[in-house]
Amino acid sequence: MERRIFIERSILGSAGACLLPFFFNSCHNKIPVFTTNKKIIIIGAGIAGLGAAKFLDDRGVDVTVLEAQKKVGGRLRTNRSLGIPFDEGASWIHGPKGGNPIMTLADKAGVQTFLTSDDSVEVFDIGGGRYDSAVLVDAEKKFNKILNDLRGDRDSSFATTFLDSYPQYASDRLWMYMLSAYLEFDTGADIADLSSLDFYDDESFPGDDLIVTNGYDRIANYLSRDLNVILESKVNSISYNNSRIKIITDNDEYNADLVLVAVPLGVLKRNSIQFQPGLPSETQKAIDNLDMGSVNKFFCLWDKAFWNTDLQYIGYTSNVKGEFNYFLNLKKFVPANALMTFAFGNYSVETESMDDSEVMHAIMANLETIYGDNIPYPKQFLRTKWSSNEFTFGSYSFCANGSRSSDFDVFKKSVNNRIFFAGEHTSRDYRGTVHGAYLSGIREAKKIIDVLSI
Ligand SMILES: Cc1cc2nc3c(=O)[nH]c(=O)nc-3n(C[C@H](O)[C@H](O)[C@H](O)COP(=O)(O)OP(=O)(O)OC[C@H]3O[C@@H](n4cnc5c(N)ncnc54)[C@H](O)[C@@H]3O)c2cc1C
Repeated sequence: MERRIFIERSILGSAGACLLPFFFNSCHNKIPVFTTNKKIIIIGAGIAGLGAAKFLDDRGVDVTVLEAQKKVGGRLRTNRSLGIPFDEGASWIHGPKGGNPIMTLADKAGVQTFLTSDDSVEVFDIGGGRYDSAVLVDAEKKFNKILNDLRGDRDSSFATTFLDSYPQYASDRLWMYMLSAYLEFDTGADIADLSSLDFYDDESFPGDDLIVTNGYDRIANYLSRDLNVILESKVNSISYNNSRIKIITDNDEYNADLVLVAVPLGVLKRNSIQFQPGLPSETQKAIDNLDMGSVNKFFCLWDKAFWNTDLQYIGYTSNVKGEFNYFLNLKKFVPANALMTFAFGNYSVETESMDDSEVMHAIMANLETIYGDNIPYPKQFLRTKWSSNEFTFGSYSFCANGSRSSDFDVFKKSVNNRIFFAGEHTSRDYRGTVHGAYLSGIREAKKIIDVLSI
C-alpha cells in the first residue's frame, strides 16, 4: 500500500571537504580536520544529537554530549530482556533507496533487515470474518484518493473535515481501522488533533520499507563510539545572556560557546529545560503549535503460534479506534512465536494508565475474536509508555490542528548563532522518522562549522 507521497531525492552532499582551507589543518585525509578552541555542547544523545556530534568530532571540533538517560539512542531503544530484540521505538527504515542515509549507517553498524510488504496482510472484522482482499484493495484506493484530495482549514481538525465530507464512514469499522492503523500510525497523531491542512505534506525516500531485525539501537551505539557522551546528565537550564553559555544539569555545570539542543519536542513543550533569556517568540510559538503524538508498542510471546505465520501483518477493525488493531508477525523474521501490536492516538495515551492485565485482556479479546476463545494468553509480555516518558512526552511530532507545517521550519533558525536545534521535530520534510532526525543533526552540525569559520 502506498502510504506517503514518494519524492526521490539525494541528500547529504560531500560534507564540505576542503571548503574552508584556512581552518582545516589537513586536507589530505578524507575528512579535513578543523582547528578551533571553541567548545560545543549537544543536549540529547538520540540519533540527531549523535549524528551531529560525530560529524563535528570527525572534523576535530571539541564536542560533548549531555544525555539524561543511562544509555544513548533515545527513541532508538531495543529491549533484549526476553532474548529477542524488541524495538520499543523505531523499527522500520522507511524508504531505503534514493540515498536514505540510514542505510549507510545500518551497514556500518551491522544492522540486519527484512524487506516488508504492506500487501502481506489479512484484515478481520469484529465478528471474526476476514475481509475479502478485493474489498480491501478497493477501500485502500478510495482511502488514498480521499487523503490526497482532502483539504480543510486551519481551525478544523482532520477528523472534523473528514467526517463532515464523508459522514457515511463515521460508523464504518474498516474506515476507522484505515484512519487509525495507517494515518494515525504514520503521523503519530489522533485524527481529532491532526491538522486538516498539512497532515500529509511530508516527503519520503523511495523503496519498500525494511524492518530492523537485530536492534535499531546498534546505529546509536555505532555513532556514539569514541564520542564524549556524559550519561545521566539531565539538563535543567541553559543561560545564554553572557559570552559563554552556561548549562546546568542535575549534578554539574558546563560552559560552552555553542549549544545544539537535540531533545524531543515533548520535552520542549513541557519546559523541562529553562532557557534564560526565554526562546524567541517565533520558536516558542512553533513549540506550542506543533504536538507530540502517541504510538505505543506491545510485544507478546507464546510457546506456539496460532496465527498464519506466512503473513506479515494482521489487521482488526476494533470497536475502539486505535485499540490493538494492527499486529506485526515477528515470526516472519526472528525465531520467536511473537506478535507486536500497537495502540494509536488517544487510546494509546489511555493504555498508559492501564495495568498489564487490563492491556493483556484487551489485546486477547481482539485476538480471540479472530482466532477463537481457545488461544492461550502470552507467556511473556513487554510494553511501552511513550507519552508519560519524561524524556520524550510522546512518540513523534505531528502538524496539529491550528499549526502549519512551516512551524517545523522555524527550528532551522538558530538563536543568535549560539543555540541551535535538531531532532525529528525540526525536519519539515521527514518529521517523525529516524532519517529526518539524523539529517537534522547533520544540517545543524554544518551550520555550526560555518559559524566557527567566521
Ligand atoms: C513507538 C515509535 C515507533 C517509531 N517507529 C519509527 C519507525 O519505524 N521508523 C522511523 O523512521 N521512525 C520511527 N519512529 C520515530 C523515530 O524513532 C524518531 O523520529 C527518532 O528516533 C528521533 O530521534 P531524535 O534524536 O530526534 O530524538 P530522541 O531519539 O528522542 O533523542 C533525544 C534525546 O534527548 C534526551 N533528553 C531528553 N531530555 C533531556 C534533558 N533534559 N537533558 C539531556 N538529555 C535529554 C533523551 O533522553 C533522548 O536520548 C518511532 C518512534 C516511536 C516512539
